[in-house]
Amino acid sequence: MNSEEGFSGEEDHLEHLRSQILGCLDGIHTVGSFATSAHDVEHVHPGLVVSGIGPIRLPLCQDDANALIGVSRRAPFGKGSKTMDDETVRKTWEIDGKELSFKHEAWYNWLDGVVENVSKGLGVHGGPGNVRIELYKLLVYEEGAFFKPHEDTKKTKDMFGTLAICLPSEHVGGGVRLIHGLEERVIETDKSSSYGISYLACNPSAAALDVKQSNIEATLAGWCSMPEKPRFMCYVLQHKYTSAKVRLSGLKGDDYYRCYHLDKACQSNGRFCLVLAQLELTVTQINDEEYLDDEEYLDQGGEELCLNDIVTLQGLQLQDSLTIRKDNLVQRRLYEAREHDYQWGGEHLGNQHDDIQQVYRDTVAVIVSRDEMTEFLLGSGHTFAHYAEFLQRLLAELKRQNGDERHLLREMIVQTCQKHIERRYHNSGDKDRFMGVTAIASLQIENPEAARAALYAVEDSFDASTFRNLGRLEFERTREFCTEAFSRISKLHLVARGLRAFRSGVPSAVQLDASEASERAVYQWAVGGLFKALSSIVQVLPTDAGAIVQIIDAYEDERLLESMNAFVGRFSDDSTFINALFMEILCYSEIVGEPKLLVKGLIPPIFDKAISSFRLQELSSLSPSKRKSPWEDYPFSSWLDGSSHNEKRQKDVSVIASLYHRLVRDDLDKVGQLLENIANDTASISRHELDRFVIPLLREMLDIPEHQPSEAPRFYSKVISTYIETVVDKEPSKPQDWSLPDDAPQCYGVDCPYCPLVREFLEDPSREDWDFTIPEDRYYDFNRHLPLHYTTKRKRRGESYDVKVTKSLKTWEQEHEAWQGRFERAQSALRRLPESSLRRCLGDGEYQDLMGLQIVKLPTADVATDPPKSTKAEAAGKRKRKRRSL
Ligand SMILES: [Zn+2]
Repeated sequence: MNSEEGFSGEEDHLEHLRSQILGCLDGIHTVGSFATSAHDVEHVHPGLVVSGIGPIRLPLCQDDANALIGVSRRAPFGKGSKTMDDETVRKTWEIDGKELSFKHEAWYNWLDGVVENVSKGLGVHGGPGNVRIELYKLLVYEEGAFFKPHEDTKKTKDMFGTLAICLPSEHVGGGVRLIHGLEERVIETDKSSSYGISYLACNPSAAALDVKQSNIEATLAGWCSMPEKPRFMCYVLQHKYTSAKVRLSGLKGDDYYRCYHLDKACQSNGRFCLVLAQLELTVTQINDEEYLDDEEYLDQGGEELCLNDIVTLQGLQLQDSLTIRKDNLVQRRLYEAREHDYQWGGEHLGNQHDDIQQVYRDTVAVIVSRDEMTEFLLGSGHTFAHYAEFLQRLLAELKRQNGDERHLLREMIVQTCQKHIERRYHNSGDKDRFMGVTAIASLQIENPEAARAALYAVEDSFDASTFRNLGRLEFERTREFCTEAFSRISKLHLVARGLRAFRSGVPSAVQLDASEASERAVYQWAVGGLFKALSSIVQVLPTDAGAIVQIIDAYEDERLLESMNAFVGRFSDDSTFINALFMEILCYSEIVGEPKLLVKGLIPPIFDKAISSFRLQELSSLSPSKRKSPWEDYPFSSWLDGSSHNEKRQKDVSVIASLYHRLVRDDLDKVGQLLENIANDTASISRHELDRFVIPLLREMLDIPEHQPSEAPRFYSKVISTYIETVVDKEPSKPQDWSLPDDAPQCYGVDCPYCPLVREFLEDPSREDWDFTIPEDRYYDFNRHLPLHYTTKRKRRGESYDVKVTKSLKTWEQEHEAWQGRFERAQSALRRLPESSLRRCLGDGEYQDLMGLQIVKLPTADVATDPPKSTKAEAAGKRKRKRRSL
């Protein structure tokens, strides 16, 4: 496959950066830490034997030392490839390893232990199993002998370090100062020199790292100053790791050192950060020949490049999956001349035409610009759910962590919060939700400034779930913030919703024994917040009515009620609001019986206003204007969702009926006003609403004549006749002749030849039938211009049909039948009203007329009249009817 695919532009501005990163990372090979040492270690006697002398006693005595010098040669001082013999440099004697032997078997076991410790100390990957020691030489330092600064050189192939063991020999001095980059280590051998053994191992190749480290640092510095700097770059590691295990300490060989030094460089630069991830390229090929010539399809490549399981160097999962571009790969030729790692589909399923998916997997180190860490992890176009989940994950990891990655996690939370506060949003609802989780996260990491910034960015209010989560935080700690959050809300129902959510979150925040005290404290605080809201809010909506009822009922506080009345009083001119409030109180009373505070406290101040602006329409919980959306719950917020149609109707009816009964008891003058409003409103209410609850309502209000004898007949008569007229409608009259223009089915043909022809026939009052001549192949086109219930008789003549079409009155018959159905339903509904009281009130004549639905009926004569007027048609019609009757 072509590895250049997916790389943008001919002159790739990232190419230089790529080669720089490769230049410094690919050169790093397994090297350890530069030195390790141990003093006065537990040891066994080595049983040292030197050729030409024999066994050497330890601790070393003067005689043996002299003997050793006797068989030694002066140590040369190595400088580069030239070896010089320079006594001013050192007074050191050496004996070649070949001349030495150790007679005590246990000495070798002891040496194995040293190798193990040293391997660990130098951080040599592969452990002691991969490290071999070779005896090089024995050195004897005379008094005054010393080393000038020097660099150890490689003595054999594969050598990576030097191990020096200081055998027991009392001496003074003997310090070694190791300098490696900025680090320095001093090892003193003299303190335990009489009887103890010390050893020191160092790794000369570590010295070369200094250069490489500074190269990486220079590369990163260059990246910083690029005009269009990439957000991140992925460096592919040598080995592949299973996603569950990957972390810095689990990397092998060169991978470990490359990441280790890269991380150090990122830290010292300060503007980058290193994470690990699984890189996955999925290439989808349509296994279908017809696509093989389709260049456009092939251009799309069917490739997807993803970073999966993105983790910190310690293995904390930061993100599950991200789609990225090939531009962000350091190694451009990663997929060149390479077999895929996995394949799905195609021949594996034995289906030739199935898509083939080939997957290439690698593990990568991702160098990310620290300023854009969270944008990188969230990807572009992330949703609210992604954001909330991301914050949740970081917070959870932060809670678990004690280690050095805490600061990174915290930094990421701060950064993503900050960026989301500054971001633009499509609408205020969206923004408020984002700000909610932002504020909560900021409070959780003790960053009150950011929480406040999120609060100030809110347009209306935090949503309910944010307030619930605020309640779950420790109240005393968030109290000030919450007070401010509520004080910024300008709508009462949002205050009420927020407080309700907040209080519901509190119990889970506190210990059981403290919960009562805490809930009391929260209650007091919430009442305080309500007082503030009631005195400061300057705008009211019908939606607030439900909140008012809910607040008074939930808090049962007399002072709050006073304050609420003052609040309502400020908006008493807003009849929509007053009506909504009145309805809410009535509805709520129906549900919970007689809520004292509500009815005694809230109703009287708004009563007059509410009765005079009473609208029957407002009383139907089904009215579409009331139920704009499932979330809009005014003014029936106490009506349970999911109630059946019937239950809702009964409740709606019972609210009006109870209002009526209340008025009958308390204020008879108002009864007249209510009746007049109801009677007027029945004329403008929809047919569906009338049908639904007017008759049941009348059944509840049959005692009107007792209280309002003069008003009652007019009320019943008006309501019932309006009901009949609206619900049943006028009886459809029988056509007086054969003109039936409405019988024409809709035709959408352009320049249709049959429309004018058929219309002429349908509109002709004297023609019951007509003869048409229609070409055979146009017959069905013609036929669809006629109602189905017309009769047609056709006779073939050559290429055409002679068609005789006969009209029928079925359209009217059907309409009349439907009317008849409505009529009967309405009549039976009306007959369910108790006859005697209604008859007494209305008088016999009026009662009969209403129950007979006279206002919608045609005079009997009209219905009986026969339509056909023309003699010919009349005769034909009569014949037909006769025939049919036979
Ligand atoms: Zn037509």
